[in-house]
Amino acid sequence: MKNAIELSHDILPHAVPNYWSTMQTYPLHEEVDAVVIGTGAGGAPLLARLAQAGMKVVALEAGPRFSPFDDFATDEKSQAKLFWRHERLSAGQDPLAFGNNNSGTGVGGSTLHFTAYVPRPHENDLKVKTEFGRGEDWPFSYAELEPYLSEVEQFIGVSGPSSYPWGASRSKSYPLPPLDLNRAAQYMQKGCDRLGIRTSPAANAALSKDFTVKGVGQRPACNRRGFCQAGCNNGAKSSTDMTYLPLAVVHRAEIRDHSYVTEFELSKDKRTMTGVVYKRGGKTYRQKCRAVFLAAGGIETPRLLLLNSLANSSGQLGRNFMAHPGSEVWGEFPDKDEPWRGIPGALISEDFHRAPKAEYETGYLLQSIGVMPVTYVSQKVRGEKLWGEKLKAHMRQYPFVAGINMLGDCYPSSENFVELSDELDDRGLRKPRVHFTFGENEKRMMDHAEKKMRAIWEEAGARNIWTFKRGAHIIGTARMGHDADSCVVDPSGKAFDLENLYICDNSIFPSALSVNPALTIMALSLRTADHYLGRQS
Ligand SMILES: Cc1cc2nc3c(=O)[nH]c(=O)nc-3n(C[C@H](O)[C@H](O)[C@H](O)COP(=O)(O)OP(=O)(O)OC[C@H]3O[C@@H](n4cnc5c(N)ncnc54)[C@H](O)[C@@H]3O)c2cc1C
Ligand code: SF4
Repeated sequence: MKNAIELSHDILPHAVPNYWSTMQTYPLHEEVDAVVIGTGAGGAPLLARLAQAGMKVVALEAGPRFSPFDDFATDEKSQAKLFWRHERLSAGQDPLAFGNNNSGTGVGGSTLHFTAYVPRPHENDLKVKTEFGRGEDWPFSYAELEPYLSEVEQFIGVSGPSSYPWGASRSKSYPLPPLDLNRAAQYMQKGCDRLGIRTSPAANAALSKDFTVKGVGQRPACNRRGFCQAGCNNGAKSSTDMTYLPLAVVHRAEIRDHSYVTEFELSKDKRTMTGVVYKRGGKTYRQKCRAVFLAAGGIETPRLLLLNSLANSSGQLGRNFMAHPGSEVWGEFPDKDEPWRGIPGALISEDFHRAPKAEYETGYLLQSIGVMPVTYVSQKVRGEKLWGEKLKAHMRQYPFVAGINMLGDCYPSSENFVELSDELDDRGLRKPRVHFTFGENEKRMMDHAEKKMRAIWEEAGARNIWTFKRGAHIIGTARMGHDADSCVVDPSGKAFDLENLYICDNSIFPSALSVNPALTIMALSLRTADHYLGRQS
């Protein structure tokens, strides 16, 4: 039986052969070696690694497969299709906004719309409990992660500086020089210089020059169109549909889009998964498999397991939810700066990571930010409750605005968790409810960062400065560690309760890190695949 999806588009730049039209398809009745659920930062690298090792692998992705060259408009409204729109209920004293604030869908997952900042974590990010007596340590050291971080950077084509003032030494330089500083970055650099705050061009998962992805093909350099959060339509951004997914397909992996996983089949003793049940086009399918790799993101991963009453003997599934303190400060400048142009995040400062005598623990970074018009206006409405004529007047200044945002570490807390609500979605499944309240340390960090960002904008010459407070990223909920009583997965990503279930996405982070997560997720994904392959051999 042939269960392949119809493939009509070549999603890679035209210089790259059309791999998708020749994608392997596996019959449903055939047991495959592994099913990977989700094709974002967590699912894609291991899909490719397992396929490269000769395994028969099928990826099930709830969202559609896009052809960026045909399907990605320079239009935020039309590009809303990249975001996870199934309703999530939000609770707690600092309820998080979902929709376009938190996660995506489609072949490529959230990397389709991510901003492409890929700073490395710091060595001490992985040891906050040892350092501060709070939060959690990771079950391995930075030294073990470093080769994987480096491998991801080299493979996907990260553009970054040749010398960087912060963090551990690197085994390899970035493969590409940094991208140009857009106007927001130039303003931030000016303000920071005046205040003695060090800055550096940021590391970005977008190409400053044409680049060959090994085993895949050539991709073109960034053309500064902007709108990266609405999807890159020339293939310059290193979303997984431009990198690991075509590599996986070349190595005979099958990717089934529109395939929404709802259940698992288990052996009699309930210790082993034997298959995955999913819905596609109104029909229910079953794929038999020898192992399952779950990478549905920090909310859907615990939700799916909670719905199936699996992997929760610790009672920790859904617990320890974290979000990065991510306040933004905006200002208006005298000259038109076209804030949508260029890579949105071009400049970084990590001077406030373990800052001496700071009134907060751990640390945060600062990044310059460009912004698209609908995103900007919706933040203005949410943040300042501005409406009508006042809002219109403010939006006339949109071409003159520029922003900086912070991104800080977050301690896990028993108050913050994902649970199943009693409301049902259109599939009859219980909707997730996410409880979130910033802790005292995160609040102190946000206050500190806001003062710094405002000072930077004042020095740079901004007027009408305003702050938009928010939490960013969905982290935690299936903690990784050594102890089966307090963690959901072991240090390799294997669920303690099942012989052949691995989790690999934002959910397994034991602590939030003080940097954007995608690079670390991809590195973890390769590491989990290597552990699995080592165990198999
Ligand atoms: C606007 C925005 C900008 C961002 N910018 C950055 C940035 O600059 N740098 C950075 O590091 N991070 C950034 N992030 C965060 C980053 O994109 C995510 O942390 C990361 O991509 C998450 O990877 P993941 O594998 O955990 O999940 P995802 O990439 O979200 O992948 C999960 C996939 O699973 C699929 N799925 C879910 N449930 C099911 C199911 N039941 N069956 C089948 N499939 C399912 C989803 O459709 C999705 O494709 C940004 C996020 C947002 C919202
Ligand atoms: S700015 Fe560069 S990376 Fe971003 S969407 Fe445009 S071409 Fe792609």
